Amino acid sequence: MREGLTVEEAQNLILEATPILGAETISASDSAGRILVEDIVSTRRHPPADCSAMDGYAIRREDLLGTSALQPRQLPVVYEVPAGGQALRPLESGEAVRIFTGAPLPPGADAVVKQEDTDMGVGRVEIRVEPEVRDHVRDGGEDFEIGDRLIEAGAVLGPAHLGVLASVGRTIVSVHQRPRVAILSGGDELVEPDRPADPGQIVSSNSYTLAAQCRETGAIPSYLGIAGDTPEAIEARMRAGLGADVLVSSAGVSVGDHDHVRDVLEKLGCPLRFWGVLMKPGYPLAFGIIESTGQLVFGLPGNPVSTAVTFEQFVRPALRKMMGHRAVHRPVVQATLRDGIQKRAGRLHFVRVGLERTREGILATPIGNQSSGVLTSLIRGQGLAVIPLESESVEAGATVDVQILDLGFFDRTERGF
Ligand code: AMP
Ligand code: MG
Repeated sequence: MREGLTVEEAQNLILEATPILGAETISASDSAGRILVEDIVSTRRHPPADCSAMDGYAIRREDLLGTSALQPRQLPVVYEVPAGGQALRPLESGEAVRIFTGAPLPPGADAVVKQEDTDMGVGRVEIRVEPEVRDHVRDGGEDFEIGDRLIEAGAVLGPAHLGVLASVGRTIVSVHQRPRVAILSGGDELVEPDRPADPGQIVSSNSYTLAAQCRETGAIPSYLGIAGDTPEAIEARMRAGLGADVLVSSAGVSVGDHDHVRDVLEKLGCPLRFWGVLMKPGYPLAFGIIESTGQLVFGLPGNPVSTAVTFEQFVRPALRKMMGHRAVHRPVVQATLRDGIQKRAGRLHFVRVGLERTREGILATPIGNQSSGVLTSLIRGQGLAVIPLESESVEAGATVDVQILDLGFFDRTERGF
């Protein structure tokens, strides 16, 4: 087992070991956010035929050469095509057909005059412009033709994809499965939030943070409860989670007398691939794969900020890979540090920062208390400034990479354009 990997080494090792989950067939209307397994090839043409883009009159341009407001021309209106209707017969020379938006253009017509350029007559219409060929005509097949490849496998389905699926008549689609994640908390000091806590006890919050992080990622969490600090208790709870794709436990992976997670994992046939990552917060992180099932196991550190930050760096990318995402990492922006940061070389630091948009770019202010026990600091910040392993300190005014955790940072109270 390797010990003390860099963040990059640990991520690479995890992602190499992470499988992409197989396909499942689901209702297209429930597929937003899912990743397509198949190519979607059109079996339809859209629009199915040339159609009118306006309410007006279908005509032949050659009948209206030289027409203007000063020299209007009268044409007989031979029939009407409402939206959803059909042309009764081809348009003959010298005729007009009343037509509405979305209705198919009669054969023989080559343009539509919008009704504002006419007297809107019923039996006869007075036309006051000289149209160009194809004016106000939407081409049949302008959006897609039969056989067009409309969506490629690997696409992350969004609202427009669901609309396109509907327009080609797809009601079911094949997408990657969502990973099931079993979540375990461990520690004799922990109590559930609805229980009275003695002074020596800590309310367990990690499983709630982790479950929400799983859901935000698109995975399906289940909760295994709190295991006391005995190998038997940990083993019993972990066994209950062996059916999931991923097991995430928090706490108990340090080297203290009461940290049994590593030993239990070995016993469950899960030799650790590595232990310890050169980062702060979050050094004591364990990763292994259960040999018999291929289930990924993450032993995350117990301090609430360490738990959340290590989930972001290691578990979330793995879950995204499993669900078929190609872009597995959070967005990173460049920001200017408002205050300097002191650190020692040897670990990569993730510094919780508040972000502000200014005329000069994004300003990042480190949150006052960077203790890994202060979870409220993650509410106050929107991102993590990434201070490289070898850096000793960073001056105020320096440019740093900031990993965005809260995409709400990009939402705006004012329009912005
Ligand atoms: P450990 O890794 O067991 O040494 O735990 C490190 C710190 O994290 C201790 O202060 C624990 O009380 C705290 N901790 C562990 N598990 C949880 C949890 N589920 N919720 C909140 N804090 C926790
Ligand atoms: Mg503990």
